[in-house]
Amino acid sequence: MPDQDNTSPIPTTALAPLIVPRPDHQVSRANISENALKVLYRLKQAGFQAHLVGGGVRDLLLGHEPKDFDVATDARPEQVREVFRNCRLIGRRFRLAHVHFGREIVEVATFRGGALEDDVDGDRCLENGRIVRDNAYGTIEEDALRRDFTINALYYNIADFSLIDYAGGLADLRAGNLRLIGDDPERRYREDPVRMLRAVRFACKLGFRVDPACERPLFELAGLLRDIPAARLFDELLKLFLAGTGLSAFEKLRHYGLFEYLFPATEAALAREEQAFPLTFVARGLENTDRRIQEGKPVTPAFLFAILLWEPVRRRFQALVDEEGMGATEAMYLASGEVCATQQPLVSIPKRFGLPMREIWSLQPRLEQCDGKRPYRLLSHPRFRAAYDFLLLRAEAGEADPQLAAWWTRFQQADGEERAQMLEGGAKRRRPRRRRRKRPAAAPDDGGG
Ligand code: ATP
Ligand code: MG
Repeated sequence: MPDQDNTSPIPTTALAPLIVPRPDHQVSRANISENALKVLYRLKQAGFQAHLVGGGVRDLLLGHEPKDFDVATDARPEQVREVFRNCRLIGRRFRLAHVHFGREIVEVATFRGGALEDDVDGDRCLENGRIVRDNAYGTIEEDALRRDFTINALYYNIADFSLIDYAGGLADLRAGNLRLIGDDPERRYREDPVRMLRAVRFACKLGFRVDPACERPLFELAGLLRDIPAARLFDELLKLFLAGTGLSAFEKLRHYGLFEYLFPATEAALAREEQAFPLTFVARGLENTDRRIQEGKPVTPAFLFAILLWEPVRRRFQALVDEEGMGATEAMYLASGEVCATQQPLVSIPKRFGLPMREIWSLQPRLEQCDGKRPYRLLSHPRFRAAYDFLLLRAEAGEADPQLAAWWTRFQQADGEERAQMLEGGAKRRRPRRRRRKRPAAAPDDGGG
């Protein structure tokens, strides 16, 4: 056992786990996916330990439907692969086995150890307190203690259907308490700063209170997010904002000062807020997204990020139009390019979402042109529906003209004759302010884009 200095977070003494036998808990095989059960049974038949762990157990105990099922085992990844034909090994930082059943993937992780050591044979590696590699295998107890929150460290043992709790997770689950494992929360956040975002995520998603000792460091450690790869932050933010509680996630991120590290341009715009609408816009947008998720409707990350970054884009766009006399298409192109360029190194938005996000923005000025053939062309634009929904949100927040939004609502519902009449009326709508044009007209007016 390694020496323990007084900052070591995790008790090294083997605590007797709390074992709850099957009759005394409500996790039932009837609620576990068939494929996850297959994986558990097959591992057991092959002579290995096999447990359901993490969010699956937590959600079943809370009476929620789990999103997915994670399995923990003492089998090494290569041994897991020998048991399942439909298995792929993935990951460098954490080596995992993915067992594929059509679209469902059951993730199988080998028990990890070394929560205390700073480096175990090069398998677990810390840099400035941050875990950069974590492939040291261990016992189930070690595996439990290196997980993030106590409620995420509960095991459902397929051998006897009991629950195993090494970290006090069952009591925290009953109390609605979100608590990091160990007695040094700051060290746990430093090991992996993404745990701060996970704290916000689980607090929102489960409606839990963050344990005060785990909450305090959140106000101070936001800067650690700078060291996290931008692609990982994107993945984590998607989970955070697309769990149906995006509005409360946004409010909590701002409360803890985490938001400004993730979306500095947006935070700057919100902090300088002169009228209420920027905040109202983001809040309404997230509320709308939450509602769609609760109703089982699809939500695209493009729309979500279009909402989160709109305010800095809009301000820059307006400045380019008002102060530099730039045409709307060009101004929107430049403004969105600049905002994306500052955002990308922090939270990198993959192209498949970034391009449609920019289209939603670029269509905003085009939606102001309600004459000629243009509205027909816009209707058939693949991003029209999203851009129109976006315009509705802007109008609701008091930023865009509600009459314009109403015009588009009517135009979509109208028949051919009514549309023609509307276009005549629409031609009278004037394009928004175009002042102090400093430069000679660079390009003809920008209907096309
Ligand atoms: P969800 O319902 O969102 O899937 P989850 O708790 O299952 O929630 P996952 O990201 O699927 O979250 O992770 C599975 C488990 O792995 C967690 O429950 C936790 O035990 C462990 N884990 C995940 N991320 C971390 C982390 N950053 N540090 C420590 N343990 C982690
Ligand atoms: Mg999970």
